[in-house]
Amino acid sequence: MQILISGAGIGGPALAHWLGRYGHRPTVVELAPALRPGGQAVDFRGPTHLTVLRRMGLLDELRTLDTGGSPMTFTDRHGRVRLRLPADFAGGEIEIPRGELAQLLFRHSESTTEYLFGNTVTALRQDDRGVRVAFRYGPERRFDLVIGADGLHSRIRALAFGPEQDYVRHLGYYAATWQLPNRLGLPAGSTGINTPGRLAAAGADPRDPERAGAFLLFASPRLDHDRHDTDALKSLLQQRFADLGRPVPHLLETLRDADDLYLDSISRADVPSWSNGRIALLGDAACGATIGGMGTGTALVAAYVLATELACADGDHRTAFARYERTVRPYAERCQRGGDRTGPFLAPRTAAGLRARNALLSKGWILDRMLRLGQDVATMELPEPV
Ligand SMILES: Cc1cc2nc3c(=O)[nH]c(=O)nc-3n(C[C@H](O)[C@H](O)[C@H](O)COP(=O)(O)OP(=O)(O)OC[C@H]3O[C@@H](n4cnc5c(N)ncnc54)[C@H](O)[C@@H]3O)c2cc1C
Repeated sequence: MQILISGAGIGGPALAHWLGRYGHRPTVVELAPALRPGGQAVDFRGPTHLTVLRRMGLLDELRTLDTGGSPMTFTDRHGRVRLRLPADFAGGEIEIPRGELAQLLFRHSESTTEYLFGNTVTALRQDDRGVRVAFRYGPERRFDLVIGADGLHSRIRALAFGPEQDYVRHLGYYAATWQLPNRLGLPAGSTGINTPGRLAAAGADPRDPERAGAFLLFASPRLDHDRHDTDALKSLLQQRFADLGRPVPHLLETLRDADDLYLDSISRADVPSWSNGRIALLGDAACGATIGGMGTGTALVAAYVLATELACADGDHRTAFARYERTVRPYAERCQRGGDRTGPFLAPRTAAGLRARNALLSKGWILDRMLRLGQDVATMELPEPV
């Protein structure tokens, strides 16, 4: 089958990998001119994530890239430590910078995939025999199926399902990350200044002390800004965090040269049906939780299930899409709930809220319970590969 995937983030290349294994040669169209390098470390936890990674043949390579997890330290604005969380709390069983995972998935799919960078879909028209696809650049083409793996602000969802505001709920916070040279000698792990509704954190890459990552999070109603205007995003962060002390002024200075800035709202996508005829959604486009909702693990699991159901149904996309959604939706919705709490967890909006969180999470048994819960949530029964 001729299958078009929109988006070369995590879900798109993972699906391309599996479709290649099942004998197809999909096309992936990506808006950015090259693979997007940005993002914090993302984690995998529990047998379901690890089984999919093993079946993809990635587990051993991922283990060599594992950061070992990042312990988190929260201070007040005077640098007094208020809370410490252990490495496995945020790092799961394997933790890897998102950009490195994207590279790995790209490498493991490129020999059986046509990648088109710097392009995007502008119109879709489907009939009984296929989908006619118009692109920003180049001629119209016909595909049997189109998969939207183009993230929270999915173009495919907008064209085939309806406008973003019908499906995406802003959860009241924004998060930003970028990489920087570690000129301040920041220690490994993440150390962050917490004030009500804000977190400004940074830490060295545990595998390379010369490099560091910054993470800023702030509470805000939905902002009316251009997501693609990097200079405007940078000045937004400068304004929001200008009053905080060391190392924040240095972090903000490094923003000037950052070419991998990621800044987005913490939002949740809920789409009542993940397919419309020959067009289906995957990853954040279907069930995104941006940060804290195990979106990366869910996208990998969903890519595997979708490709496997297409192979089982021998190309009957109606059967395959229905089984894919029936299997993955309950799992994705369980994982999404974690994302609903990420903002208030990392930066409670009041001083009393901060104190209450610190007191609660200082108790070891509560942390253990939360870790076990995270593993249970991320576990489901997978179909066997064909
Ligand atoms: C640069 C970047 C950094 C991120 N950093 C973090 C992070 O630090 N922490 C975290 O939890 N999550 C982060 N995320 C989100 C995380 O990758 C996803 O929640 C999760 O991995 C699910 O992946 P996905 O493939 O569905 O979406 P994404 O990883 O968001 O990938 C979507 C892809 O689609 C592309 N795209 C968007 N619009 C179009 C279009 N019109 N046409 C073609 N392609 C398009 C995007 O450029 C992107 O490459 C980041 C995403 C990106 C793109």
